[in-house]
Amino acid sequence: MSRIVVLGGAESGVGAAVLAKVKGFDVFLSDKGTIDPKYADELRKWEIPFEQGQHTEELILNADEVVKSPGIPSTAPMVRKLEEKGTHIISEIEFAGRYDTAKKICITGSNGKTTTTSLIYYLLQNAGLNVGLGGNIGKSYAYQVATEHFDYYVLEISSFQLDNCYDFRPDIAIITNITPDHLDRYDYQMENYVKAKFRITRNLRKEDCFIFDSDDAITIDHLNKIIIQAKMLPFTQKEGVELKEGAFVKDDKMVVRYQEEECDMYLKELALGGRHNVYNSMAAALAAKAAGIGNDVIRQSLSSFQAIEHRLEPVLSIRDVLYINDSKATNVDSAWYALECQRKPVVWIAGGTDKGNDYSVLADLVREKVKAIVCMGVDNKKLHAAFEGIVGADKMVDAQSADAAVQAASKFAQPGDVVLLSPCCASFDLFKNYEDRGEKFKEAVRRL
Ligand code: ADP
Repeated sequence: MSRIVVLGGAESGVGAAVLAKVKGFDVFLSDKGTIDPKYADELRKWEIPFEQGQHTEELILNADEVVKSPGIPSTAPMVRKLEEKGTHIISEIEFAGRYDTAKKICITGSNGKTTTTSLIYYLLQNAGLNVGLGGNIGKSYAYQVATEHFDYYVLEISSFQLDNCYDFRPDIAIITNITPDHLDRYDYQMENYVKAKFRITRNLRKEDCFIFDSDDAITIDHLNKIIIQAKMLPFTQKEGVELKEGAFVKDDKMVVRYQEEECDMYLKELALGGRHNVYNSMAAALAAKAAGIGNDVIRQSLSSFQAIEHRLEPVLSIRDVLYINDSKATNVDSAWYALECQRKPVVWIAGGTDKGNDYSVLADLVREKVKAIVCMGVDNKKLHAAFEGIVGADKMVDAQSADAAVQAASKFAQPGDVVLLSPCCASFDLFKNYEDRGEKFKEAVRRL
């Protein structure tokens, strides 16, 4: 019996282990940290042997193949050892893809993955298709392949999950956009990060579709260097651009063309506001057309979709000041779009763990829209250096908790203003994760 060892015991790893068990492999799971009791129980339930707090070499190096969870970097000593030994290391997505015959719509990119994935899932559900949602969202893909039967999957796939994909093939692949993020995991080489994202296209065939943002210079630059067999479906918001196939804006409408068909819809009817969500809606509509969904379902779905938590989520209006939770904005580009779509003066709460950010791209928007900044991080020096010259040193304060940040922001805000949490940084200095940061922010707002 072939032996599969899974490294990492959270959603992805446990899903892979369950699938390996169901497929009759000799499975072992190892996690160097602690495994959440919920996952440990799941492993016991499936009678999968596992260890935590250590990696026992004798139980790992004898693997025929290893499934590595996306959170474990390729520089981890155990991964290095396995590589030296020549053991094949794959991702959970690669593993699950081997056992799945459903049609797969796969979404990657720097920003907009979750929004676009959720929109497409909603569209396919509304069209009455038997569809599963997975990848980086909700239940892992592998767990669902082990326990469910779907005709379609909509999968959000991070670049870490693509790193160890080889033969995995989507039917429809989407790259929402590519902007610098997570460069720490790619030797600070943008090229490596771009290539990781483009791995989603490497097995596409002529009958498949590739949906991409043709306004994104990094995407276009890379596309010029490679050959993709699939049908190319760009989306753009450039003025005056009309496409034979793809999505574009004409007057005040979004127009989607696929094969001989066209679907249009007023931009103001889109449920999700902001320029970035026009891109996301375009990508979703193109995927829906390629999946054969009718125009009525597309229009009805894109106009009724509910905002997702932590993504430009309106929290409360207090004394005519609207508090918005955009905790998921963990990089500069997402914060750019959050600021760009604000029409009222902004008190901006930013900061956290800096991932090598270049704040200069935000300078114009900050000058135009931001009246004060609350820096919510352990180390706020870079933010001060970037923005003190723009908003003024007296309009910038530091806060070390969501409560303190909301209190400080409420002092700067006047009726008619917006308080926007859009941190453009990761959350790990003060919070467990971005969800925790968003929750604490919302609680603090409710306490005002
Ligand atoms: P991801 O899953 O790629 O992190 P989300 O849909 O969760 O993307 O959105 C993350 C953040 O980026 C949010 O703050 C959101 O408002 C912003 N955002 C969403 N779509 C886009 C886009 N197409 N371009 C830039 N920023 C976006």
